[in-house]
Amino acid sequence: MARKATVNRRKCAYCGACVAVCPVDANELVETYLEIYDDRCNGCGICVRTCPMGALVLVEVN
Ligand code: SF4
Ligand code: SF4
Repeated sequence: MARKATVNRRKCAYCGACVAVCPVDANELVETYLEIYDDRCNGCGICVRTCPMGALVLVEVN
């Protein structure tokens, strides 16, 4: 099992804080939402702790 970050787009304020701290460039502000690239995300959780809106969570994936 691996962990990946997932965003609740209804909570996301599109501030870019999570993009700034991700060590592997696994997320990106795209038009009007945050995109997370599962193939890059290593589940470190830095973005989850950084998000001021509580919009990010780590989920278990196969
Ligand atoms: S969990 Fe880590 S690797 Fe994944 S998007 Fe967040 S900061 Fe980047
Ligand atoms: S830090 Fe949180 S509110 Fe800001 S863009 Fe990322 S998910 Fe959205």
